[in-house]
Amino acid sequence: MAAEIIDGKAVAAEVRDRVAREVEQLCAEGVTPGLATILVGDDPASAVYVRMKREDCAQVGIESFHHEPGGDVSQEQLAELIESLNADERVHGILLQLPLPDHLDQDVLIPLISRDKDVDGLTPANAGLLAQGRDEALVPCTPAGVMELLAHAGVELEGARAVVIGRSILVGKPLATLLLGANATVTHCHSRTRDLGAVCREADVIVAAVGRQSTVTADMVREGAVVIDVGTNRTDDGLVGDVDFDGVREQAGAITPVPGGVGPMTRAMLLANTVRTARAQAGRTASAVRQ
Ligand code: NAP
Repeated sequence: MAAEIIDGKAVAAEVRDRVAREVEQLCAEGVTPGLATILVGDDPASAVYVRMKREDCAQVGIESFHHEPGGDVSQEQLAELIESLNADERVHGILLQLPLPDHLDQDVLIPLISRDKDVDGLTPANAGLLAQGRDEALVPCTPAGVMELLAHAGVELEGARAVVIGRSILVGKPLATLLLGANATVTHCHSRTRDLGAVCREADVIVAAVGRQSTVTADMVREGAVVIDVGTNRTDDGLVGDVDFDGVREQAGAITPVPGGVGPMTRAMLLANTVRTARAQAGRTASAVRQ
């Protein structure tokens, strides 16, 4: 039987509606959530991503503050910009679009983003809090979106065998931590994993975050398993994921498509993180005023 298709667009629309209602409420309390975006260099894909994120913000009532300091900006100048946004009360989230040009070091710049405004969840401070299972961690948008999709599809994670393929700090690592936190038994795979197929065949849930077409094929999937495809690969046939969709959908119980699966969730979770940081910062300001 063909798998249930998990509709990321529909779930993302629900998240956006929820965020829009929260923004309305915050505005009524005198706080307009604000997201600062920083775009450096002339990578066309990055420019499109940032534009879409700003459009998403406008749609739900989040104010956006866009900065495009130019491709030759120095590390010190960019650091100053980040510090000024950390101090700006109108800004509740800061998004430094990656990748940065070669002369800039993201390992130096990302940790400068205030933990409270780190809506991408990429600072070591938030990664550490997530690793410790602490609720206050801001979680990177893609893994947070995957967890929403799994919840929406009614996937029982407690005691389930989950395989995560890919170990980036943006997707694979935080996702494995979240699945562990949801009491799944997690196996973490990467380019050196031996016999990936055998590992995957044991899994109730497979998440592929690799960036390589056809990494997961039907013979690697146990009947009824849930398959989440994070990958985005541009081919002559358009955008495809890491999962061989047509073959795997005949075997899986549920599967996300590409496009229309994880991608829309990543965008929606950025809005959700921004409204969350706005709420947290507004709460702190209010209690400081009361003291
Ligand atoms: P990344 O930093 O390049 O990491 C890729 C991971 O895949 C690495 O851990 C690598 O292992 C592993 N890998 C490579 N070849 C493999 C193989 N043959 N078998 C098993 N594992 C293998 O990529 P990323 O940033 O995590 O992104 C992964 C994919 O997700 C990309 O296609 C990206 O475009 C996509 N993505 C999509 C969204 C979205 O919203 N839909 C968001 C973020 C990323 P090693 O660590 O051993 O090198």
